[in-house]
Amino acid sequence: MSDTDRITSGEILPDDVVEASLRPQSLDDFTGQKANRENLKIFIQAAKSRGEALDHVLLHGPPGLGKTTLAQIVAREMGVGFRATSGPVIQKSGDLAAILTNLQPHDVLFIDEIHRLQPAIEEILYPAMEDFQLDLIIGEGPGARTVRIDLPPFTLVGATTRAGLLAIPLRDRFGIPLRLVFYTPDELTGIVIRLAGKLDMDLSYEGAQEIAKRSRGTPRVAGRLTRRVRDFATGVTGAITRELTDGALTRLDVDHKGLDAMDIRYLRRLAEHHGGGPVGVETLAAALAEARDTLEDVVEPFLIQEGLLLRTSRGRMLGEPGWRHLGLEAPKARPDQMDLLGE
Ligand code: ADP
Repeated sequence: MSDTDRITSGEILPDDVVEASLRPQSLDDFTGQKANRENLKIFIQAAKSRGEALDHVLLHGPPGLGKTTLAQIVAREMGVGFRATSGPVIQKSGDLAAILTNLQPHDVLFIDEIHRLQPAIEEILYPAMEDFQLDLIIGEGPGARTVRIDLPPFTLVGATTRAGLLAIPLRDRFGIPLRLVFYTPDELTGIVIRLAGKLDMDLSYEGAQEIAKRSRGTPRVAGRLTRRVRDFATGVTGAITRELTDGALTRLDVDHKGLDAMDIRYLRRLAEHHGGGPVGVETLAAALAEARDTLEDVVEPFLIQEGLLLRTSRGRMLGEPGWRHLGLEAPKARPDQMDLLGE
């Protein structure tokens, strides 16, 4: 199964587009990420009171945690325009120049997947971010000359699933780096209840809790599961109970922890073919016929956060809760292999 088929994938699926109108609109509306929210509030107020553009913001974290939503909220709270693009879309330096020269003072420019910008384009971004200046090369060969254009002060909001992949000079130019974390079941319950209200769904509190528990700490997944439960409950009279929710999610192959067939395949591979590891991620990617990036960005972060999977300097290892989740006995601890890499 490709990741794009997974109901528990944090990545955007075609069906998610309807979610756009349901996004939280203000910082107060935005559930979770408390520390990030409070910091952003202070920085936004300070920038507004000084009449300046907000400093550049880097949002990093797994897909579906609210990076795009937060970028839009920043623009709304600042009372400025919002332009969105993404790293792979910007192919030529002229593409970026056109976007930058069309910005209004203090606008927010959102670049999703900023780690996928080409190095040559990144170079253009440096003076633009630092001095609001654009150096354009006109012509070719010996006759080529550089023209410097002043840009309006703007705020770049960059989003990336992995800040580690960002060139250091680029990373250093973000005054406000924010790391988004997985949501707690309570936070997700709140998000599900709010969404159910907007979708006119009569969802019981226990039903909302069940969806939250199985959403991999990710609001995008919570939204998707809520809509699927609504489909299963069509024609049901009265509130949607926990039992009904449980039945629907089980039929969708989402287990009680929120793991789907892909997660289980990953964990089983590690347990049954590699004795729990350590094994390199490339080996796992080849065996599972998945892209290494997909494993690292989408599948692994939640498994690691839950302790099901460990990232060690020698490769991936199954954590004790991982063995338990598979209903298997963990081999005796091997402390020499427990040199965990920092996340
Ligand atoms: P990312 O850009 O990190 O992939 P998005 O900002 O596109 O994630 O969010 C994915 C979905 O989850 C959107 O539909 C959004 O409405 C919802 N969402 C994200 N964060 C929250 C939140 N804190 N509260 C409610 N809904 C949220």
